[in-house]
Amino acid sequence: MADAGSPGKPPGKPSGGPAAHPHGCAAAVVVTCEHGGNRVPPEVAHLFTTRGDHLAGHGGFDAGALEMARAVAAAFDAPLFYTTVTRLVVDQNRSIGHPKHFSKYTKGLPRSVRQGLIDAHYRPMRREALAAVSDFLEAGKTVVHLASHSFVPIWRGVARTMDVGLLYDPRREGERDLCAAWKARLATARPELRVRRNAPYKGVSDGHVTALRKRFPAGYLGIELEVNQGFVTTDRPVFETLMRLIPATLAAALADTGLAWGGMRPPPS
Ligand SMILES: [Zn+2]
Repeated sequence: MADAGSPGKPPGKPSGGPAAHPHGCAAAVVVTCEHGGNRVPPEVAHLFTTRGDHLAGHGGFDAGALEMARAVAAAFDAPLFYTTVTRLVVDQNRSIGHPKHFSKYTKGLPRSVRQGLIDAHYRPMRREALAAVSDFLEAGKTVVHLASHSFVPIWRGVARTMDVGLLYDPRREGERDLCAAWKARLATARPELRVRRNAPYKGVSDGHVTALRKRFPAGYLGIELEVNQGFVTTDRPVFETLMRLIPATLAAALADTGLAWGGMRPPPS
């Protein structure tokens, strides 16, 4: 499957942001993790008494995604918004009304109960992330939103042929250029790493980033990072390396595309 981007195109200036500054646009990084845990809130615990295995697997959460989100947020000194409530209760990465917003365990609940789950476990993170993005945009910054996810190494019996996925909207030049630059930086730093764009999922599918793109047509760059869970579960040293490599190469890619930010903390040794 071909990448959806334009690999031959050199990184250019970001689009959709404020007028380009001669030294680059001032950028702010915002980090989120929508599938950070498999916690079941007490009000629906009775639905999950025999679902332990399902909760522990990818159906329950994205293994390693919150660790990665913390690493990126720490490196950029960026705000981090996350939830540890399992997607099987309410999926933080789906819009209200989406058929998969609630899982098979919760979709049959009375409307009032589902509304309570949305109010308690869905809206707060969405509201906080939205406010952070709005504040940075109002301050004249270009916002680079990184949503941290992970994917299972084997899907329906077939091994995935990638290690890292960078998801974006190919129609948005700023996102496209940033991901092209980021992929190039990753290739230089770790040639053996299999990095794909808009795989294993499409960047334009329903999700938190997609919702924010609609809200902020200009000045907002939304990227979803997808890391192969194989590293998290069986190749821990590589995952530790990735937690340094991902923010370092993103920082370089920001600079490559004319996005300047406040500086980076030195990675923990
Ligand atoms: Zn996810």
